[in-house]
Amino acid sequence: MPMKSQTDYLWFEVPKRRGYLRITDQVEALVGRSGVQEGLCLVNAMHITASVYINDAEDGLLHDYDVWLEQLAPHAPTDQYHHNRTGEDNADAHLKRQVMGREVVVAITKGKLDLGPWEQIFYGEFDGRRRKRVLVKIIGE
Ligand code: ZN
Repeated sequence: MPMKSQTDYLWFEVPKRRGYLRITDQVEALVGRSGVQEGLCLVNAMHITASVYINDAEDGLLHDYDVWLEQLAPHAPTDQYHHNRTGEDNADAHLKRQVMGREVVVAITKGKLDLGPWEQIFYGEFDGRRRKRVLVKIIGE
């Protein structure tokens, strides 16, 4: 079979500074549309203040991530960060993104995302209130 490839961009606008969106179904729909039966699916945030990661879709855990990230890299006081001397206020968002990661790669088996039983794909936003893009690249046959 010839190799297929498909490229799509998902757009998100989180109304608050931080948010965690489950995007598994949107990615799965793109895999279905691609017709790829055996391959790989890359999903990456295209902004340096947002993440794509895989973990449990459990509200308590999402809360715990948010508290933990805010302890690691508090948003305020914003003048504690050298990056914010540029006039920005999002140094904490860059650091949070680094911890939560840029991308995930998921195997496609028999035309479906081959995720573990509790694995869900998330978009993590750390400097929201504007439109941001996620790349979904699917390759395989
Ligand atoms: Zn910045």
